[in-house]
Amino acid sequence: MQRSVLIIDAISTRRIHMRAQLDTAAYPVDLADTQTEGLALIRKDPPDVVIIADDLPGLRLRQFCKTLRGNTQTQFTTVVVAVRSENQSARVSALVDGAHDVIDMNSDGVDLKARVRSFMRTSGQSEGWYRQPQTQAVSGLAEAVPEFAPKTVASFVARDSEIWFDKILNDVSAASGIDIRPTSARLARRSPDVESDVYILLETGSDDGTRDTLVALRSHPTSRDSRILFVTDCPSQIASPLDLGADDQVPTTISPTELRLRIDRLARRKRDADRKRKETTELAQKAYVDALTGLSNRTAMEEYLLRMDHALTAQPRAVAMMIADVDHFKAINDNHGHAAGDVILAQLARTMRSKLRDGDFIARYGGEEFLIVLPNVEAEQAHDVALRLRDAVADNPIALNASTHVRATISIGLAVAHRNDRMSTTDLQRAADNALYSAKRNGRNRIDIALLANSHERPLGGTHGEQ
Ligand code: GH3
Ligand code: MG
Ligand code: MG
Repeated sequence: MQRSVLIIDAISTRRIHMRAQLDTAAYPVDLADTQTEGLALIRKDPPDVVIIADDLPGLRLRQFCKTLRGNTQTQFTTVVVAVRSENQSARVSALVDGAHDVIDMNSDGVDLKARVRSFMRTSGQSEGWYRQPQTQAVSGLAEAVPEFAPKTVASFVARDSEIWFDKILNDVSAASGIDIRPTSARLARRSPDVESDVYILLETGSDDGTRDTLVALRSHPTSRDSRILFVTDCPSQIASPLDLGADDQVPTTISPTELRLRIDRLARRKRDADRKRKETTELAQKAYVDALTGLSNRTAMEEYLLRMDHALTAQPRAVAMMIADVDHFKAINDNHGHAAGDVILAQLARTMRSKLRDGDFIARYGGEEFLIVLPNVEAEQAHDVALRLRDAVADNPIALNASTHVRATISIGLAVAHRNDRMSTTDLQRAADNALYSAKRNGRNRIDIALLANSHERPLGGTHGEQ
C-alpha cells in the first residue's frame, strides 16, 4: 500500500519548507492551502498522515478530526497539528480537540522525519480512540472517560531528576491521579515494573545512557508492551528516540497539562493494545480447541498432521498413530442422557491426556473419536501406551452423581510406521482406522494393530489384533 502525507497550510513558504524536510523519496507528500482543498484531496486519496497548521484560516479542528474518524476510509489517518512551539495553550487545545499529535511548526528535518516514520508505523493500528462507537464524541485525548478507568501507572526514570520531578511530575500526578513511580535506570533495565503502563525517560545529557535504557526497556519481556515517553532537550541525533522505540517524545519545557494528556493517551493505547492482544489469543485458542474436552479440535489436528508430513518428508522417523473410539457410546447417551454423555467424554479426554507425554498429540476430531500421535515411537512402546490408555479408561468408572458410576471403554486402532516406511499421515490414519474397525469387530475394549502394506517389519512380530 502506498503511504503518503498531506500538508495543509495557507502559508506557501511554510508548506514548501515542511515538504522539503520530509523524506519525499520514501513517500509522496501532497500540499493543500485550505481546509476545503485538503478534505477534497483526502477523500480522493486518503493519506496516512495529515499535517495541518493550527493557524489555517477557518480551521475547526474538532470537526475536522471527527469527519476523518467517522469515515471508514480515513478512520486510521493520523492527524498532526503544527503549532508554534511557544504556544502552550494551542498545543493542549489541539490535543484536546482530537489531534493525535502536535509538532513544532519549525521542527527540524530529523525530528519531523522521525515523527512521521513513527506515525506511519502506528497508523492503521486499531488502538484506542479509533474504535470508539460512532455515537460517542470522538475527540482524541478528550474522549469520554470510560466509567471504570483503571488508574494509570507510570515509571519515571531519570538520573538527576529531582528538579524536573518536583516541577512537573508532582503537578501531573496531583492533578490527574496518575501513579508516578520514580525508579533508577539500573532497576528499570534489570527488572521493569510489571504494572507500569508508561515509562517516562528523562534525558539530561546527550550521552547519559538514557537511550540505552530505552532500547533495553523496548526489548525486555516485561516492558516491551509498555508505552515509552521520552523527554529530552538534546538536539536530534541520527537515530531519534522515536526510531529507537519511543512512542512519544517531548521537550522538558512541556506544560504539565500537555504532559498529563500525553501520559493518559499512551496508557489508554497500551491498555487497548493489551485487550486486543488478549482477544486475539483467545480467539485463536477457540479456533483450535475443542470446547467440551479442551483437547485440540479437528482444525488443529489437520494443521498438526500437515506439519508432521513436512517433518517426515524432511527427516524420516518412526511415528505411531492411534484412533480411539468410545464403545457403545450411543447406549451410554440413551441410558444416562446426552448431558451425562458430555461429562463422560470430557472425563475420558482428561484421563487419556494424563497418560500421554508432553510431546504427544491428542485431538478430539469427531463425536467420540480421538486421534493420538506419538512421534519417534516404535511399535512396542506405542502398544504399551495404547494399553495404558485403554486400561486407564476401563479401570476408572466415571461418577455422574453419588450413586451413579459409568464404566466406559474404548477401542483403539494402532498404526506404527518405522522410519524406513516413509508413510504419510494419511496412510497412517487409514491404517489406524482399519485397525479400529477390526478392534470393534473383535469385541471392543481392545487394541488392534494395523499391518502396514509397505512395512519393513511387522509390528510386534506380526501380531494382528492384540488385546
Ligand atoms: P461403537 O462401539 O461401535 O463405537 O458404538 P457407538 O454407539 O459408540 O457408535 P455410534 O457411532 O453408533 O454412536 C456414537 C454416538 O456418539 C452417537 C452420538 O450421538 C454420540 N455423540 C457424538 N458426539 C457427542 C457429544 O458431543 N456428546 C454426546 N453426549 N454424545 C455424542
Ligand atoms: Mg463409538
Ligand atoms: Mg464413533
